[in-house]
Amino acid sequence: MPNETIVVIGAGVIGLTTALRIQQNLSPSQSILLVARDFPSDTSVNYASPWAGAHYRPVPGSTHQALREANQAQRTYEYMKRVAADEPGSGVAFIRGVEHLEAPPAEYLDRQSVENVYSHLDGFRALSGGEVPDGVVWGVEYGTYVVNSPVYCAHLLRKFVLGGGEVKKFELVNLMEAFSLARGVRTVVNCSGIGIGDPRAFIIRGQTCLVRNPVSETITRQNTDGSWSFCIPRPLDGGTIIGGTKEPHSWDPNPSLETRERLLANATKWFPFTPESGGKFDVIRDIVGRRPAREGGMRIEVEKITDDRYVVHGYGAGGRGFELSRGVAEDMAGLMLEKGLLQAKASL
Ligand SMILES: Cc1cc2nc3c(=O)[nH]c(=O)nc-3n(C[C@H](O)[C@H](O)[C@H](O)COP(=O)(O)OP(=O)(O)OC[C@H]3O[C@@H](n4cnc5c(N)ncnc54)[C@H](O)[C@@H]3O)c2cc1C
Repeated sequence: MPNETIVVIGAGVIGLTTALRIQQNLSPSQSILLVARDFPSDTSVNYASPWAGAHYRPVPGSTHQALREANQAQRTYEYMKRVAADEPGSGVAFIRGVEHLEAPPAEYLDRQSVENVYSHLDGFRALSGGEVPDGVVWGVEYGTYVVNSPVYCAHLLRKFVLGGGEVKKFELVNLMEAFSLARGVRTVVNCSGIGIGDPRAFIIRGQTCLVRNPVSETITRQNTDGSWSFCIPRPLDGGTIIGGTKEPHSWDPNPSLETRERLLANATKWFPFTPESGGKFDVIRDIVGRRPAREGGMRIEVEKITDDRYVVHGYGAGGRGFELSRGVAEDMAGLMLEKGLLQAKASL
């Protein structure tokens, strides 16, 4: 009979992936409870996960944050391959990914920094001048995955519950409250997206448009004005996401009609929608979400509160929560194993 409960806060992609990873290393005396204000059936502008595109697109760079994310993203890529192959209802699929950049930043022109993040991708190849549209000076293609984000989150939650996890819908006012939510709570895992009261956390507003028109690949185009356009098909007939904006600190919860028109006009020019749509889009809905970001990147660390109380933090994934999810979950479980908060098992 378990006498200790691990409480995980958050039912976004980070909390769900981490909770599933923790389940693999519970000792017989431990149980796990996932507590969240929002679950995959909810739609709140402050619950980022169901609004994500989502696709995986590497981000070159040499900062500590960039290198750590590249490592987490690579592990997540390998994990998503297994998910796509073994779990057909997961909402994850592998397809061709293409990038077209009109004014590539310096890190895209440095061969080593590009190789560091792209070379692990299946079929990675630089496109020659004749293979890219007019105006594009840097182009690549590779095999990548796309995620139907609400379906994937519901799939993770189902796996967690089938694996014996318990869930509770509850809004916490502060982290310490979590220690009172069950019997014998020694460890609270904070996957609350934006964090709870962290002054370094901030939001990045994103507006996209979900359309019924199908497309068979995910294309990202960087424009000379610094804006980005992308199309991301959602597996299992989930439509296509046309994006998108990145607006740090913008709290506007309402979609802008002008933004929608600009996104769709660009998509008509640049993305290969099937001809039967006649250049018209069948809009399902506008999407506005808040990416939970943090200066310096995600906070992944164990905070000792007292001799027998710990908070394990994992929040602030910004615009890359799906792409980093499995790597982050492994790193968090690794920290918990180091501190003796989970049981090491030979199957690791
Ligand atoms: C338009 C858009 C496009 C995106 N595209 C991509 C993409 O292509 N690829 C990609 O990888 N990522 C993408 N993202 C980013 C991705 O959605 C986020 O990085 C990811 O969802 C963050 O997951 P999370 O679990 O940390 O946070 P969230 O999904 O926000 O979940 C936080 C959880 O914590 C709970 N919580 C918070 N505070 C409390 C509290 N006080 N009490 C109880 N519960 C609480 C919430 O209810 C929720 O369950 C996109 C995001 C947007 C908005």
